[in-house]
Amino acid sequence: MIKQKNGINFRNLCIDPTRSPTDKNVIFTHAHADHVKFSDKSNFFATPPTIDLIKKRFFRKKTKFNEINFFSKKTFDDFELELYPNGHILGSSQLKIFNNKEIVVTSDFRLQDSLFFKGAIPLPSETLVLETTFGSPIYKFPKYFDVVSEMVSWISKEAKNNLVLLSGYSLGKAQELTKISNEAGFTPLVYESIFEMNKIYSSNNINLGDYELLDHNLKDFSVLIMPPQLVNKFLLSTLKEFDSRKIVSALATGWSFARGYDKLFPLSNHADFNDLVSYVEQSNPKIVLTDHGFCEEFSRKLNRLGYNSKPLKNHKQQVLFDF
Ligand SMILES: [Zn+2]
Repeated sequence: MIKQKNGINFRNLCIDPTRSPTDKNVIFTHAHADHVKFSDKSNFFATPPTIDLIKKRFFRKKTKFNEINFFSKKTFDDFELELYPNGHILGSSQLKIFNNKEIVVTSDFRLQDSLFFKGAIPLPSETLVLETTFGSPIYKFPKYFDVVSEMVSWISKEAKNNLVLLSGYSLGKAQELTKISNEAGFTPLVYESIFEMNKIYSSNNINLGDYELLDHNLKDFSVLIMPPQLVNKFLLSTLKEFDSRKIVSALATGWSFARGYDKLFPLSNHADFNDLVSYVEQSNPKIVLTDHGFCEEFSRKLNRLGYNSKPLKNHKQQVLFDF
């Protein structure tokens, strides 16, 4: 039985704990901070790239992790599981649990192909735990590669004379921005936390193009990539102090309500509303448990479509920079 006491729980397995876990076995589907919590009592499992990212992000050099590769079956006491890519970020996985029935947990996923990853392939299931961050019909994203083309054109025009400030979450979005900046013809300068994540993408054979660490070298570059939590009035006034160019800024986000930027680009690494419906249709489960974001609204929608669905738990809407 799937429960939600801390992350998602099945028998003695905790998937993506939201606080320090007490379970025997813990699996991290990916390395975003809202999916990773530690304790001294558990065995930790993840894909090799997710382990690399977690060790760097959470200063866990000494923690022992157990690798599970994509498509290989791992046996636990009374069930088996397999991990499959899900298009969200490097190493991210959806998982299938084989018990007396097949349970699929999508975690954060993207159905569309993107710059570095194929979109998630929907897995057939009897019980589907579906991540519904954008599970409202107001979230219908344009085609991913149309957004990329629009960003490439905008950067190549703006960066000729201005300093272009791009903002995106350090893990996942910032690597896409690094590649997009290169495609626009500009090597970007990147903040330290982004530089560290970029290096791990590069060491996993993902071609980001060139990038340099921000280190008193702003004047030599036309594009700067920063995490959103550091883009504020203080940063802008500091940049203006050191650089006479006009600053133009853009945020890459699936959300539509961010303020203070010249441009918003709907570059998302999640499924939008239509993609969520499409996943359910292809997976064809007997029951859908919705998790995260618009879980209640999306669950009601599925019931109207004739599926059996309920939210796993009442969630408050996540704030913009949680993922
Ligand atoms: Zn995520």
